[in-house]
Amino acid sequence: MVVMKFGGTSVKDAEAMKKVIEIVINSKFKRKLVVVSAMSKITDSLIDVAKNISLNKEYSLHKLDEIMLQHLNEVDNLKLNDIVSERIVLEFDFLKNEVTNQKEFNSEVYDLFVSRGELLSSFILSKAFEMKGLRCYNLDSKEVIKTDSNFGEAKVNQQETNKLIQNKLNEIYKNYNLVVAGGFIASNLENEPTTLGRGGSDYSAAIYASALEANELEIWTDVDGIFTCDPRMIKSAKRILKLSYTEAGELAYFGAKVLHPKTILPAIEKNIPVIVKNTFNPSSSGTRIENEKQNIKMIKAIAFRKNISIINIQSNRMLGAYGFLSRVFEIFNKNETSVDLVTTSEVSISVTIDDIKNLHSIMKDLEEFSLVSVSHSNAVISVVGEGIKLTAGIAARYFGVLKGINILMVSFGASEVNLSIIVKESDLENSVNLLHSEFFSTNLDNEVFLEVN
Ligand code: ASP
Ligand code: MG
Repeated sequence: MVVMKFGGTSVKDAEAMKKVIEIVINSKFKRKLVVVSAMSKITDSLIDVAKNISLNKEYSLHKLDEIMLQHLNEVDNLKLNDIVSERIVLEFDFLKNEVTNQKEFNSEVYDLFVSRGELLSSFILSKAFEMKGLRCYNLDSKEVIKTDSNFGEAKVNQQETNKLIQNKLNEIYKNYNLVVAGGFIASNLENEPTTLGRGGSDYSAAIYASALEANELEIWTDVDGIFTCDPRMIKSAKRILKLSYTEAGELAYFGAKVLHPKTILPAIEKNIPVIVKNTFNPSSSGTRIENEKQNIKMIKAIAFRKNISIINIQSNRMLGAYGFLSRVFEIFNKNETSVDLVTTSEVSISVTIDDIKNLHSIMKDLEEFSLVSVSHSNAVISVVGEGIKLTAGIAARYFGVLKGINILMVSFGASEVNLSIIVKESDLENSVNLLHSEFFSTNLDNEVFLEVN
């Protein structure tokens, strides 16, 4: 069986939903579980409604009408019957009532509203499938995905959820081969709606895939897959056909707009291949992410991220002293700031952070026992690939091609699949161009990379 997740742009209107239906019909798998996001921008609008319920009820009610019309419009465009529209109107009557009666905004209210986007999109899509003559079950994810009560970003109770998904789907699959469920939404033990955090639909899809031991998890989006570099910066970027889970994780971490590793963890744990594909160009094979064994070991991509601050910390006492590093990290811990890259020498340590909210307090604490300096407007560039640790001469090529650039920090990641440097933001574009042409211009393995133009 397959779990197919379609993001907000893939269900943004009737046209897009028709494409989704085509794709699902053409899938080679007999049993399919389709997981959908809310229609594009709807989650933002619902957040707006919720946040205004105590400030400006008029505004919230008006906004709800707008959201209702957006949905009814697509129901019309899909030529679904009146019963569908009537149900949607009823749903909005309920929400308007909530706006009128709720006194204050809190995270519980947030989830009550925000969870509606996925309920609506999955309901409409399931009706559109039925109109095409497909038997389809609209599953409410609130019934099977169980969380704690940390509204807005609830934690999934894995065991309970797996059991519920397996039992429910076993029943459903006796009569249906196609199930449509909303992503992102869940419920707590009291059956109140919860959500899994922004972008949470990928996570929901991975949870379903893992519980059902799916053969594949397909993530359908609006780009052709994952590229050797951001195509907006590097015109000659190539599509990567295969990545390992670790490589995909490193890429996401260092700035590539790909799946967040945390969100597909349940699929990774079960060794389920994850395939990123384009709803608007389904014949493109996308990017396949699976375990290391399936992957050719080479350099796969370059990722970068701006807005990096470097903190240099120097201690005279570090020479021969122990406890300095732990004291430094204790301070970052206390100030709830995560450190990304670290390099140390005998007497100093440099760390990078991208969240400078608590910088002032961090500096004050560090200055109690060290000399501290900070520089802003830097960028991290990471060359990522399982091949880095195995291929001789990579570092020489890396630094050779950047010989005119001032490299501020170097870090060879502990996972050994990324080699990262920090440069000034003003050197970013030039550096990325140089690295990309060094590693991705010639002798490319056509089993791994695809020329786009
Ligand atoms: N609709 C939710 C959001 O916009 C979840 C998702 O799309 O993954 O964050
Ligand atoms: Mg998303």
